[in-house]
Amino acid sequence: MKPAPFSYERPRDLDAALSMLAANSASAKIIAGGQSLGPMLNLRLVQPELIVDISGLAELKRAEVVGNELVLGALVTHADIEDGRTADVTRGAMRGVAANIAYRAVRNRGTIGGSLSHADPAADWISALAALGARVTLRSLAGARTLAVDAFVLGALESALHPGEIVEAIHVPARAASAHWGYAKSCRKTGEFAHAIGAVLINPAAASARVVIGAIDTTPIVVTDAAELFGGRIAADYKQRFDVRVADALLVGAGIDDAAQRHIHVSVLKRAVLEAAA
Ligand SMILES: Cc1cc2nc3c(=O)[nH]c(=O)nc-3n(C[C@H](O)[C@H](O)[C@H](O)COP(=O)(O)OP(=O)(O)OC[C@H]3O[C@@H](n4cnc5c(N)ncnc54)[C@H](O)[C@@H]3O)c2cc1C
Repeated sequence: MKPAPFSYERPRDLDAALSMLAANSASAKIIAGGQSLGPMLNLRLVQPELIVDISGLAELKRAEVVGNELVLGALVTHADIEDGRTADVTRGAMRGVAANIAYRAVRNRGTIGGSLSHADPAADWISALAALGARVTLRSLAGARTLAVDAFVLGALESALHPGEIVEAIHVPARAASAHWGYAKSCRKTGEFAHAIGAVLINPAAASARVVIGAIDTTPIVVTDAAELFGGRIAADYKQRFDVRVADALLVGAGIDDAAQRHIHVSVLKRAVLEAAA
């Protein structure tokens, strides 16, 4: 199929883009890498009157370390991260995630901001960035606001973006030297979206952990105080203490009735924990 007819604008700077979005908030759609929007247009799942192409906006291509965090413009591509063109404040964690998104042609064009905005529950960044404790800055003509990634994703294909707002940047905290990272996913075929994701950031020295169970058809389960998953305390022996029954109960609480599905999610999360401990 072909898209329904639409007008097309390619603003020169962020202010111009925001003005176009504000003036056409009910009928405009942003396009960045086009890897999700393109198919949705072709299938006529969305039929905007105006496409605002932000892919030329230099303001959204920045990648710089500010204090103790990496600030990535929304247009940074998966390939930029995979290839190390952005600073590696997560000590390889983001690079590993990026390298396993889809296949190279998608990674060359797909952007981190587009991935978050699309809010596909099976997408890698919404789970990985939630586990890393990242935040996202949204900008409109009225100003900017910053949310935790887990507060930004509201449901399947549903984000906290208001009409006229744009994802401007993602702020990724530096991973502590003592923090262990594990990321695992289950896909039917290499390059396909995951049907289970486990992401863990465990710091035994600080007795803290962030645990994410993703690709569950709605917002990922984000456990910021994860001691209960490790027998009540997070210490050097967390690998042995990981409690699959608590993970299963979290999935039951999220409404996943199918025991086989829960088993896959728990197994993938366990793989992430083992990877972190390795
Ligand atoms: C075959 C295939 C396989 C894939 N497999 C995976 C996978 O395994 N894992 C994974 O994580 N992803 C996967 N993807 C998705 C891909 O990673 C892209 O990141 C994703 O499609 C969105 O990025 P984009 O830049 O292409 O956004 P676009 O397609 O341009 O836009 C997507 C949506 O976000 C909005 N948007 C874009 N940028 C902004 C912004 N800055 N502010 C506000 N709204 C914005 C658009 O309006 C649109 O609604 C796959 C895609 C394809 C085509």
